[in-house]
Amino acid sequence: MKIDIVTIFPAMLQGPLAEGIVARAIARGIIDLRVHDLRDFTTDRHRIVDDVPFGGGPGMVLKPEPLFTAVDRIREQRGTPSAIILTSPDGERLTHAVAERLSRLEHVVVLCGRYEGVDERVREHLATETISIGDYVLSGGELPALVIVDAVARLIPGVVGDEASVTGDTFVRGLLDFPQYTRPAEYRGYAVPPVLLSGHHAEIEKWRRAQAVERTRKYRPDLLDD
Ligand code: SAH
Repeated sequence: MKIDIVTIFPAMLQGPLAEGIVARAIARGIIDLRVHDLRDFTTDRHRIVDDVPFGGGPGMVLKPEPLFTAVDRIREQRGTPSAIILTSPDGERLTHAVAERLSRLEHVVVLCGRYEGVDERVREHLATETISIGDYVLSGGELPALVIVDAVARLIPGVVGDEASVTGDTFVRGLLDFPQYTRPAEYRGYAVPPVLLSGHHAEIEKWRRAQAVERTRKYRPDLLDD
C-alpha cells in the first residue's frame, strides 16, 4: 500500500513512524510511505502556506494552491491515489469499518490541516473524503494522520505478525476484547482468574467469550444494538 502524508510539520511524524509495527511494515516494503513538506509546493520566496480568512475572523487558513500542487506532484510521481483524505474534526468518524475499507486501497493520500483549518475548496474539489478521529479539536492533522495510518496498517495482511491477534481485537468481531493476564499468577494478593491456569482450552474459550460479551454489555452496550 502506498501512503503519502502532506504536512507543514514533517518532523512531527518521524518518531512514531520509526517505531513498532508501522515501522516494520515500512522496512519490509508492505507499506510504501512518504511524508511531504507542504512548503515544498509553494512558489513564493517565503514558502507561505497560509493566509487570513476571507470575511475576517481569527487565525489563519491553509491556502489551496500548495495542497492542490502537492497532490498533482504525488499523482505524477506515485500514480493516481485511490483516496485523498482530508483530516478534519467535522469529517466521517474513524471506526474499525472505515479503517478496514481504507486497508483495502492501493494508494492513500492524507492531508494534514493546521491553524483554523483548510480552504474549503480542498474539501470540495481535491479530497475524496474527510475523516475525523473523534469529537475534539486538535491543533493539526498530523496526529490524526498517524492514527489513521496505524489503524489501517495493522489490518493489512502480513503487517501484524500473528493474524489471530488482529481478528480477536476489540471491535473486529463487534465485541470488546476479553481481559488478558500474564505472570505472576498472584501479585500483591490479586489472583488471576483460575480458569486461565486450568489448561482446559475449551473452558478458557468459553470464559473469554463470556467475558467479551459481558464487558461489551457493561462498557459499550451500543455495540450490541447494531
Ligand atoms: N476550526 C476548525 C478546527 C481546525 S483544527 C474547526 O472548528 O473545525 C486544525 C486542523 O487539525 C484541522 O484542519 C484538521 O486537519 C486537524 N484536526 C483537528 N481535530 C481533528 C480531528 N478530531 N480529527 C481529524 N483532524 C483534526
